[in-house]
Amino acid sequence: MKFDMYQVEQYCDKHGIRLTERRKQVLGELLQSEKALSAYELIDDCNKKAKKNISAMSIYRILDYLESQRLVHKLNLTNKYVACSHIACEHGHVTSQFLICGGCSKVEEVNVSPSTISALEASVEAAGFSLMSPHIEVKCLCGSCSKEQLNKESVDKR
Ligand SMILES: [Zn+2]
Ligand SMILES: [Zn+2]
Ligand SMILES: [Zn+2]
Repeated sequence: MKFDMYQVEQYCDKHGIRLTERRKQVLGELLQSEKALSAYELIDDCNKKAKKNISAMSIYRILDYLESQRLVHKLNLTNKYVACSHIACEHGHVTSQFLICGGCSKVEEVNVSPSTISALEASVEAAGFSLMSPHIEVKCLCGSCSKEQLNKESVDKR
């Protein structure tokens, strides 16, 4: 887990974000997961733990709220959700780049430098477009998956 629920609750208190039991549960599931989770995976996980089943509609409503408060990010490549890695950070939220492992689906949220963003903005404007949300998703291999791949390749060569 990136940080504990207590820190998240403090952050939410300070910023007037209302965490209901349900919202807390969904956010908690995402915080515990290294991978991005789909809405349906979240429903399954929540239903395993709660007495009352949660509907798809309420999951989407909760995710929309958490996303609007930047506690959660939606990954467009995979249509899944991750908890923000910077909820309890001192600094404000900056533009994020999401590294998505094609092997094990692990997701890492890294900061993009302002100069990269301005370069991106310039090329977008040169094309006559205007940048709306500079959220970048890249498909990669994480450290352990690329190691595995290398091992496989060296075995194949033998
Ligand atoms: Zn974030
Ligand atoms: Zn941070
Ligand atoms: Zn991986």
